[in-house]
Amino acid sequence: MKTNQAFRYELDPNNVQHGALVQHAGVARFAYNWALADRIERFEQNEGKAKFTSAIEQHKLLNSLKVAQFSWMYSVSKCAPQEALRDCERAYRNFWRGRKQGQDIGFPTFKKKGQHDSFRLTGSLHVKEHGVVLPRIGRIRTKEGTEKFRGRILSATVSREADRWFCSLAVEVERAKPLAVVGEAVGIDLGIKTFAVLSNGERFESPKLLKRKMKKFQLLSRQVSRKKKGSKNRTKANLHVARLNRSIRNIRKDFLHKLSTSVAKSHGIVCIEDLAERNMVRNHHLAQSISDAGWGEFRRMLAYKCSWYGSELRVIGRFAASSKTCSVCGEVNYSLALADRTWVCENCGTLHDRDDNASVNILNLGTGSHRPEPHPSKIGCNACGDPLTKRWSQKQEASSPVFLHEVVCNE
Ligand SMILES: [Zn+2]
Repeated sequence: MKTNQAFRYELDPNNVQHGALVQHAGVARFAYNWALADRIERFEQNEGKAKFTSAIEQHKLLNSLKVAQFSWMYSVSKCAPQEALRDCERAYRNFWRGRKQGQDIGFPTFKKKGQHDSFRLTGSLHVKEHGVVLPRIGRIRTKEGTEKFRGRILSATVSREADRWFCSLAVEVERAKPLAVVGEAVGIDLGIKTFAVLSNGERFESPKLLKRKMKKFQLLSRQVSRKKKGSKNRTKANLHVARLNRSIRNIRKDFLHKLSTSVAKSHGIVCIEDLAERNMVRNHHLAQSISDAGWGEFRRMLAYKCSWYGSELRVIGRFAASSKTCSVCGEVNYSLALADRTWVCENCGTLHDRDDNASVNILNLGTGSHRPEPHPSKIGCNACGDPLTKRWSQKQEASSPVFLHEVVCNE
C-alpha cells in the first residue's frame, strides 16, 4: 500500500546558504501577506460578501506585478511565493467553511518576521548522502545521515525553530501490507493526572522533565516582558524562550512517539475515546494542562501507526459516559465529581480507581463486550424506592455506543 510519510532533517547551512534560506522565508512571508491583503480588499469591495479568488489567479497577478514592483522576488525559487499563495487560500477557505459549519476557526492573520519562518518548495528535490538538494539553493548538509531515506519526494518544507533550520520532506512510500498484530484488545483512558491508563493496568506518566521545563518556560517568558521593546536584550531573551520551547516540544513528541508505537505494535485492537479536545480546551481550568498534554497529537499518531503495524483503532463516541459507569455491573454514579479519584459502586460494591474503571469501560464499549444486566430488584430509585430499569441501547453502533438510563418511577 502507498502511504504518505515525512522525513525531517536538521540542516547545517553555510553562511551563503543561511542568507538564501532567510531570503526564501522572507519572500514566502511577503507573498502570503500580500495575498491575504488582496483577499481582504476584494471582500471589502464586495460589500462584506465573501468573494473568492484562487491561488492561481493571484499568482498570475503577482507575476505581472513582479516585473515592475517586486523584482527582488526573482532571486528566490518561484515555488516559495507560489506555495505561500496556496497556504493563504487554504487558511482563507477553512475560515469560511468553519463559519458555515458553526466551527470556531480563526481568520488568517498576517505573518510576522521571526515567527514561524518557513517556506515550501516543490519540483527538483533530491536527497544525497548527508544532504538535501533544494532548487536555487543547492546541496545543504544535514546534521544527520540520510541512509534511511526512501520514497518519492512530493515537497520540502524548510522552517526555522529558534536558531536552527529544519527540512521536512513529504514523501510517498510503498509499504508492505502489515500482518494483523496478535495481542489482547486494550482500552486507553487519557487523563490529566496520569497521561494514559490502559485497561490492562499499565499507567504512563508524562515525563517529569516536561513539568520542570514548563515552569522554567513561565519564568523566562516573564523575563522577556521586563526587557525594553526593540532592545538587543529582548531579542536575546526571546531566543532563550524559543530554544526552551523547542526543547519542550521535542521531549513531548519523543514521549508520545514511544508510547503510541508500543501500544500500536502490541495490541490487536486499540480502543480510545473521542476527546473533542477543541471543546474541552475552552474550559479555562483544564485548558493549560490539556493543550500541554498533547492528546490530539497522540490520537493522530496512534491512527497512522495502527494502520502501519496492523492493529485496529476503534474510537468511542464522546458522549458515552465512561468515568461514571461501573465497569462491573453498569451502575451509573451521577454524583462522581472530577476530584474523586476512587469510588465504591453502590450496586455491586466494587472499589473503582477512576482512570482504571474508565479504561475498562472504553475497552468494553469498543469491543462490544456484553455486560451483565443488574437485577431490577437489587436497585431502587433514590426517591421512592421503586426499581429502576437499566439497559444497554439496542441501537448500539460499533463506533458510538450510547448507554441509556431509564428511570421508571411512579412518584
Ligand atoms: Zn457496580
